[in-house]
Amino acid sequence: MADHNVDLFVVGAGSGGVRAARIAAGYGARVMIAEEYRVGGTCVIRGCVPKKLLVYASRYADDFEDAAGYGWSGLAPVFDWKKLIANKDREIARLELAYTTNLERAKVAVVKTRAELVDAHTLRLLATGETVRARHILIATGAAPHMGADIAGLEHVISSNEAFHLQELPKRILIQGGGYIAVEFAGIFRGLGSEVTLVYRGENILRGFDDDVREHLRAEMERRGIKVITKQTVDAVEKTDHCYCVELSDRQSFMVDRVMFATGRKPNVAGFGLEQAGVKLAQNGGIAVDKFSQSSVAHIHAVGDVTNRINLTPVAIREGHAFADTVFGNKPTAVDHTDVPTAVFSEPEVGAIGLTEAQARERLPQVDIYKTSFRPMKMTLAGRDTRAFFKLVVDAATDRVVGCHIVGPDAGEIIQLVGIAVKMKATKADFDATMAVHPTAAEELVTLREKAMSYRREAAE
Ligand SMILES: Cc1cc2nc3c(=O)[nH]c(=O)nc-3n(C[C@H](O)[C@H](O)[C@H](O)COP(=O)(O)OP(=O)(O)OC[C@H]3O[C@@H](n4cnc5c(N)ncnc54)[C@H](O)[C@@H]3O)c2cc1C
Repeated sequence: MADHNVDLFVVGAGSGGVRAARIAAGYGARVMIAEEYRVGGTCVIRGCVPKKLLVYASRYADDFEDAAGYGWSGLAPVFDWKKLIANKDREIARLELAYTTNLERAKVAVVKTRAELVDAHTLRLLATGETVRARHILIATGAAPHMGADIAGLEHVISSNEAFHLQELPKRILIQGGGYIAVEFAGIFRGLGSEVTLVYRGENILRGFDDDVREHLRAEMERRGIKVITKQTVDAVEKTDHCYCVELSDRQSFMVDRVMFATGRKPNVAGFGLEQAGVKLAQNGGIAVDKFSQSSVAHIHAVGDVTNRINLTPVAIREGHAFADTVFGNKPTAVDHTDVPTAVFSEPEVGAIGLTEAQARERLPQVDIYKTSFRPMKMTLAGRDTRAFFKLVVDAATDRVVGCHIVGPDAGEIIQLVGIAVKMKATKADFDATMAVHPTAAEELVTLREKAMSYRREAAE
């Protein structure tokens, strides 16, 4: 006999699991949720939220400098890393409590333990050894940093998890990786005053983003003093008396105070009994699911990063909600994974939605490109040498805007709203018919008149 019986057992109290648990409980299900680390999951505890707080902190440096051009003087700011981390930790603890309280208010039983599958209907709570029998199981275990090949000295390397808890701000840091987490941390550390080297094995940073965005961001990062090294990898890390010596594949070496890898994340699928339950994995290493997030076992579902579809918080939340509606609300709901807007909180920021120029040219016979690069107005008096970039990708056959790519201040905020227009299938004519808001940077989106490029593919004979 199991110690408990529930309608739904959720493994992992992160973005997807918490939402699913609350909505399912709202439909009257008896729900238990297990969390082995901290309630809130990656986003709240060591992802989006603490990262954005550090991004805010790092941007004050430019603001203090730029203020001089606007007549301010006498500013002699001093930065205190320990204070920032302590304040950030206090905010994260507040959020964790709020998440727990909301779950309990929804009558979800929260158990602070690792849970493992014993069979397709039974879970063991490792903290107490108790077992739970569940009618439905939701796996929402997220993902974890993947540190890559086992190079010499890997034990000295930190991931984003540890970067949030460093005792000191490193004077010099080398970050390996070219994805959004790597470029975001490069911007954070640079803004706070560290000497930053970014090493990436590919041709250019931000693989998967529009090529113009990748080039523009790289140039801007270099302008801010970040050393970007591509087509190289870290081969070895050696600890010396005071610092670390990092050797790259081309035998260049660097002496730094910290080495961080942001070389990807791996779904948390290992070692918790998926095999016993008969749950199958997909080619991408995540749990294989259908459009309703149902796994190969009918009463076991999976949402969020553990399925390795689109690894973003709002997507995990939407998948968790849709799961609860489908299974407990009698409202079968599939999540639409197309045209998901996204931001990179680098310095400057990136916002993107829809097709890149390369993707559009591959998929559509007629593509028009509109783009512009300009110095944001605020930077004129500030005297800062930086440029913003806006690009629209248009399906010339239908006039639909199928992609929008922005680099510049507030790109994340702007792309959220452009996202509505793109999702509604707005045309370039709709953009043009929208009155500009002046003076803003975003007005460029409705005043782009000149085609930068026009591609036409001949129909196959
Ligand atoms: C540094 C960083 C920055 C990010 N920034 C952004 C951003 O700006 N915007 C954005 O949209 N996304 C961002 N993300 C991604 C985002 O955090 C994830 O997509 C999101 O958290 C996924 O939610 P989830 O529910 O799938 O998993 P998670 O939030 O990872 O939750 C999974 C939970 O399951 C727990 N768990 C695992 N195994 C077990 C077990 N056997 N028993 C009990 N508990 C278990 C884990 O401890 C964890 O708390 C960022 C991620 C990182 C690492």
